[in-house]
Amino acid sequence: MPTSATTPIDLRSDTVTRPSEDMRRVIAQADVGDDQYGEDGSTNRLQEHVAGLLGKEAALWMPSGTMANQVALKVLTRPGDEVVVGHETHAVWHETGASAANAGVQFREVGSGGPFTAADFLAARKPRGHVIFPPTTLVEVENTHNRGGGLVFPQDEVERICAAAREHDVATYLDGARLWNAAVATNRDPAELTAPFDMAMVALSKGLGAPGGSVLVGSADLIEQARRYRRMLGGAMRQTGHYAAAGLWALEHNYQRLAEDHENARILTERLLQSGRIDLDPTTVQTNIVVFELAPGAPDAATMVERAFERGVLLFAFGARKVRAATHLQVTRQQCVRAGDILAEIAEEAA
Ligand SMILES: *Cc1c(COP(=O)(O)O)cnc(C)c1O
Repeated sequence: MPTSATTPIDLRSDTVTRPSEDMRRVIAQADVGDDQYGEDGSTNRLQEHVAGLLGKEAALWMPSGTMANQVALKVLTRPGDEVVVGHETHAVWHETGASAANAGVQFREVGSGGPFTAADFLAARKPRGHVIFPPTTLVEVENTHNRGGGLVFPQDEVERICAAAREHDVATYLDGARLWNAAVATNRDPAELTAPFDMAMVALSKGLGAPGGSVLVGSADLIEQARRYRRMLGGAMRQTGHYAAAGLWALEHNYQRLAEDHENARILTERLLQSGRIDLDPTTVQTNIVVFELAPGAPDAATMVERAFERGVLLFAFGARKVRAATHLQVTRQQCVRAGDILAEIAEEAA
């Protein structure tokens, strides 16, 4: 990827990466067929590989993480059910109200900053069969937690939450769009992180850099049900092997290097912390996402995003004074140093 002073440093998301030359070759040569007849060799291989990596019986390729989340809700809940989730979960904030429209569920956000405890879950849980309460039938964990700043959800708490859920006949789901980041950051086997859950989703299109696709995993029975709902939502495609082959290649080549993205996020954080006008808790920077607040006196988030754009740094505003930067395989360490200088400089300017 060419980089120069005029190439924007794109920290908007880890989804903005474009396929490398090697990945494009793999896509061009992919073994494909009609996936709805189970005849796409690359997709079959990817599903088998990811099911193995995540220690589940079966896997199903999905066009997007959003659809994987929606299908999981259709499988694990019924309309009118309540789903317990962490504060500012993706399904609540970033899926255009899809969960209410598709599965017909309502969310109960608990905890703060993304993580929550088994005690939080139990306090929020409503029993089945009550004449008034909506039954809590699912608890969902997001790991890493995007709006929490790429936080890794503590695994011992995951285990306690899922054990409490099982005890009360509540299903468990992991939105692991960035589970690979959590696994690399904690040096754990991803299967260990998915083990407590009935179903989990992982993305190929975020830090791994594939052009699209997520994979939903679970028991063979749950995945069979998911196949029907994928079709119902219009997500059953044909020669998906072009995506799947890129995903397999990305898992092989771009997995361990996620540690570099985490290091670059730390470098960016160090520089931002030198500004007295940026509020950032460095303990939240555990993976490839940096979420910070602009202190009183600094420009607001929209102004910072606009001024950064003019100076070649692309970011997203996540609130009136909240900004997110995400590192990925197409931003270098040197670019993160430069972005840090530019953002700190903007924070010091007049509002
Ligand atoms: C990106 C993301 C999704 C959705 O993935 P898309 O492929 O963009 O639909 C779901 N959950 C989390 C936590 C995400 O970051």
